[in-house]
Amino acid sequence: MSTLVVVGAQWGDEGKGKVVDVLAADAQIVARFAGGNNAGHTLVVDGKQIVTHLVPSGCHYPGTLCVLGAGMVIDPDVFQAEVAELQSHGLLLRDELRVSLGAHLILPFHRVLDGLREDRASASDNQIGTTRRGVGPAYESKAARRGIRVRDLYEPARLRERLEQCKAALDPEFERFGSSIRVEVDDLVERGKRWGAWMERWVCDVGALCQTAIDSGHRLLFEGAQGAMLDLDHGTYPFVTSSSATAGGVCPGIGIGPTAIHRVWGITKAYTTRVGAGPFPTRLDGPQGKALRDAGHEYGATTGRPRDCGWLDLPALKYSARINGLTGLCVTKLDVLADLPEVEICVAYEDGLVPGTDDLGRVRPVLEKVPGWGDPDLARRLRAARSLAEVPAPVRGYLDFIADRVGVPIVLASVGPGRAQTISLAEPF
Ligand code: GDP
Repeated sequence: MSTLVVVGAQWGDEGKGKVVDVLAADAQIVARFAGGNNAGHTLVVDGKQIVTHLVPSGCHYPGTLCVLGAGMVIDPDVFQAEVAELQSHGLLLRDELRVSLGAHLILPFHRVLDGLREDRASASDNQIGTTRRGVGPAYESKAARRGIRVRDLYEPARLRERLEQCKAALDPEFERFGSSIRVEVDDLVERGKRWGAWMERWVCDVGALCQTAIDSGHRLLFEGAQGAMLDLDHGTYPFVTSSSATAGGVCPGIGIGPTAIHRVWGITKAYTTRVGAGPFPTRLDGPQGKALRDAGHEYGATTGRPRDCGWLDLPALKYSARINGLTGLCVTKLDVLADLPEVEICVAYEDGLVPGTDDLGRVRPVLEKVPGWGDPDLARRLRAARSLAEVPAPVRGYLDFIADRVGVPIVLASVGPGRAQTISLAEPF
């Protein structure tokens, strides 16, 4: 088996960074296929925390190719800064990057527009809760067929034409906002030349690169961004991200076909979190939610925003397993639950409602108390566990319960932020 897709199975922030970092040890290529710098992966490398927003988590391994696919939107300023930071930590020094010619760019006017729209929405209490990084507006330009792609950086005439189209479409909107910002075509054409020159040695046909690698029997890991419940088509629309956050997004987002995908692993926390607006059936308000947030340090890696927290939502996870075609589940942050006096789990929704409908905002979770947790010694033993046999029995029972209810085997359990705090239960490739 040579290809593995790893996606967030919930609302994002499931600890993909750590899991992909661990799994990437066995991969020759790690590729991202969607999203932009609205994602934030926290890696702990030799005790140091590094947050990446665009470059896939495999950047820790010298020689592993880190690929940015066509389904992504790339802010060239952010990309430059991130590569410089990673290189200052001694990473990506062997020319391990590749960037799709088909990826779209987030330009400064996309960022400004994102912020202006969120401000207006917050004034009318209608916020989606975007990260204001210009991701949504860049995908809008793409869908409107006036987006600027990496390949346009090498075709100044086409770059100018696209920018003129953006100007015609967006300047009136800036005007309506009373903003003095305009799409500055000449300036962007000039900057485009510099961005193009900077990334030229990495740009290529990423689909062809990946297919050749697959045909040669190489191991490829495709890293999703955000989580399935934020998927543009199948998430809690309209409170979703503007791209495909499910495993199927790999195909258009890289340029390979579905038959090239061998395994799909979904990452879920042992509980649930959500940042931004939108339905969240198991959200805990009050002291219980705060206790979970504090125990899990649940603040966004990209924005620092506090995340809403709640119990694990099995109906949502089961839905996620279906829309992703999950073949394995990775459960992270088990140690966080072990710090709590009691643990509950959502086994169904009242009235038999199901995820994937607009009713998700009004469902009431059916909760069960999970037996055996709340022992002060549990967290210590769990954090020290390095094999399933060392995992305390109540936690094993919890994992079995999840696998049974969702119908997908547990392939990995994470019991702390460190790479060593990972219990592998199946071969990734
Ligand atoms: P991502 O975007 O899915 O990678 O999620 P985040 O970047 O928000 O990562 C979640 C945070 O949880 C990071 O600080 C990780 O170091 C941390 N983390 C990952 N797995 C575990 C775990 O099993 N236990 C604990 N305590 N922290 C973890």
